[in-house]
Amino acid sequence: MFTNILSRNDFETTGVDCICQSINSLLQIWEIGNDFIKENGAITGITMSEFWDHHVVTVNTSFILLHQGMEALLKAHICGHSPMLLLEAKRNEWPTKPGNKHLDFSQFHQVGGESLFITFFATDPPNHMGKHIFYNLIEEIRTIRNKIVHVGHKNNIEVKDALSYALKILTYYFGKDKWLEFLRDRYRRNPVNINSVERIPYFWNTINFVWENIGKAECRKNLSLERQTRFYHCPSCSVDLDGLASHEEIKLSLLRPNDPLSTTVYCLICDREHDVIRQSCDKEACPGNVISVGGLEKICLTCFK
Ligand SMILES: [Zn+2]
Ligand SMILES: [Zn+2]
Repeated sequence: MFTNILSRNDFETTGVDCICQSINSLLQIWEIGNDFIKENGAITGITMSEFWDHHVVTVNTSFILLHQGMEALLKAHICGHSPMLLLEAKRNEWPTKPGNKHLDFSQFHQVGGESLFITFFATDPPNHMGKHIFYNLIEEIRTIRNKIVHVGHKNNIEVKDALSYALKILTYYFGKDKWLEFLRDRYRRNPVNINSVERIPYFWNTINFVWENIGKAECRKNLSLERQTRFYHCPSCSVDLDGLASHEEIKLSLLRPNDPLSTTVYCLICDREHDVIRQSCDKEACPGNVISVGGLEKICLTCFK
């Protein structure tokens, strides 16, 4: 018989890990380039596009990882029917007769490429994934990945497209906004990041990276937040930020529900809701009217004073 048969959950975890890591690799390069260009761009004349060209290997590698993640998610759906559909070996090679030696499931070749797609579409995918548009999406990703692997380290993919593909696959499979939750969970689970103030700029940078690189229309398809959304400080997370240079601009809480009488803010960083009162801020020139009442003092979540 087979031992250690993989489950839908195993493949989903692998798929999400690969795709999140693919986004993270791009984000890390973007953070370095963006900081450099902000400080030295005018003097050196170096552009972000030149910076990405220099990092073509990272961009390509991140895309190969995205392709691997996409295949894992297709396999996860197939597993929901039966993991046996993933096996490439002929039935008469299966070690399933009584008395056969037990064999680990992972030792058997699994279907890939075209066969994987055909199997996926044979397993009754949810309506939005059973359509031509989804087939075209995964076929595009496969074609670009093959180019990277077979042709070599040329500029086969623009960063904005790589990022869009990653978000699209996660949105198709799990629904809108899920990618941010996945990135947060993976970052928070890293033992060195527990309680780290670094996680706050990290989320700020992640969202800004997406906003700046994939354009408004693509953003809207994958994320409910818009750059124009009015953000507030978090009464809990923003305290940790005291002393950091970017303190003023880093706001990732929003009213929930988003209406003028709302008395709750939800923070994307700590994933918690906080009570607020609606009262005008008494600091000169501050238009804020969302005040935290959780601590000893009232704090305006617009100016954080
Ligand atoms: Zn928070
Ligand atoms: Zn204020």
